[in-house]
Amino acid sequence: MNIYIQPEYEVVRDRDRCIACRVCERQCANLVHSFDAETGKMQADSSLCVNCHRCVCVCPTHALKIVKSDDTYKINGNWSNQTINEVYRQANSGGVLLSSMGNPKDYPVFWDKMLINASQVTNPPIDPLREPMETQLWLGKRTAKIERDEKGRLKNTLAPQLKLKVPIMFSAMSYGSISYNAHESLARAAEELGTYYNTGEGGLHKDFYKYGKNTIVQVASGRFGVYKDYLDTAAAIEIKMGQGAKPGIGGHLPGAKISADVSETRMIPQGVDAISPAPHHDIYSIEDLRQLVYSLKEATDYKKPVIVKIAAVHNCAAIASGIARSGADIIAIDGYRGGTGAAPTRIRDNVGIPIELALAQVDQRLREEGIRDEVSIVVGGSVRSSADVVKAIALGADACYIGTAALLALGCHLCRTCQTGKCNWGIATQRPDLVKRLNPDLGYKRLVNLVTAWNHEIQEMMGGMGINSVEALRGNRLMLRGIGLTDTELSVLGIKYAGESM
Ligand code: SF4
Ligand code: SF4
Repeated sequence: MNIYIQPEYEVVRDRDRCIACRVCERQCANLVHSFDAETGKMQADSSLCVNCHRCVCVCPTHALKIVKSDDTYKINGNWSNQTINEVYRQANSGGVLLSSMGNPKDYPVFWDKMLINASQVTNPPIDPLREPMETQLWLGKRTAKIERDEKGRLKNTLAPQLKLKVPIMFSAMSYGSISYNAHESLARAAEELGTYYNTGEGGLHKDFYKYGKNTIVQVASGRFGVYKDYLDTAAAIEIKMGQGAKPGIGGHLPGAKISADVSETRMIPQGVDAISPAPHHDIYSIEDLRQLVYSLKEATDYKKPVIVKIAAVHNCAAIASGIARSGADIIAIDGYRGGTGAAPTRIRDNVGIPIELALAQVDQRLREEGIRDEVSIVVGGSVRSSADVVKAIALGADACYIGTAALLALGCHLCRTCQTGKCNWGIATQRPDLVKRLNPDLGYKRLVNLVTAWNHEIQEMMGGMGINSVEALRGNRLMLRGIGLTDTELSVLGIKYAGESM
């Protein structure tokens, strides 16, 4: 017999307000609510609630709230309720605990321990409302020296570049982990914003080929959905070597989310777990990686930049140095708070390092080795606001990937149960009745609004620093100061303490 597991949340219904319209029952994919015909009243099984807030938002009389259960085991500083429940769940199931979204643990957030500089008097600020402020940039290899012939024509052959109107892209999220409507929203928003979204490892649905100019396609270890047309359609190709939420392991999409459409796009059977291997079976060295980089370039006539994505881990600076020499045009680094549709809980919460520390070390190492211009750096893994973007660029990034923030803009309530396929907001699900809850016409507009708002804020912060282009901010660590950081942390980040002079 299974051990009883205490519910984490409690559904509280105001009986005076509830009109038993049964909207909550119809809206909850977790089957929490039911109608008792005998009493004529609604009931709730709180043990099934994941606190997604859907019923709270749609209840027409505001009769519902979800609270943290105050039913608790005996207080124990060593064994929290959650830890005890996880042991019970594993004792009941014998299985690996699965989670989704990013690492929720209370580890330090280094973005919040860095402050941005502002100019005054001798180096005056720039008013972004009245003066030009450049947030457009290009990603890819930079040519060391531009040469022109006697008529002023360019003699160099420039490496292929990605042009971004804003220093923000949407990070990899596969069709399968997220819904058709979520993918459509991301694709349309990327097109309107002049930036890029990323297929993740799930292949590209035929309907989205028309957004190819704004699409980054992924080649991951499972090679799901990878074929010539897929590569040809894209603006850039990303080789996924690692992911921040699950460094060192492969991908996992539960069978419940492999619908007929997803199986066709991924070229895999329907309803069966899609598990991509931990390593690429043809990559065991930088030389092997180089072969794949050049195979992909060869297959696409050397017209598309190749990105290599890695997870932020202890030795990522050395790995990045190898990647820069492998012929890749862009390195993407994903921090340990990066989101996922499904990952083993223990891996998500205990493996990897913060993106802030990884970025600082990678940028510094590439500079020291004189190869920083060989590659662009894109970072993701909990970039939560425009201030995080500015700090990332000042630390050395060229641009940022946003994932969780983009999902929030689509209406995600961070219940962190995407792996179940029962997302009540129509985002991380393939169930047709749930998918249609996300209207892509509205979803894409909210994404455009979010990135447009962040871009205004980035311009304001740059203006405040007296800097008028993203390129001039890149790697400008004098614009950052640490607060509440140890000497070691300051040294890893390569920044001074607040109050230290230039
Ligand atoms: S899972 Fe979501 S919709 Fe269902 S009861 Fe809980 S908060 Fe409401
Ligand atoms: S995408 Fe859906 S299931 Fe995943 S965290 Fe957000 S609301 Fe929950």
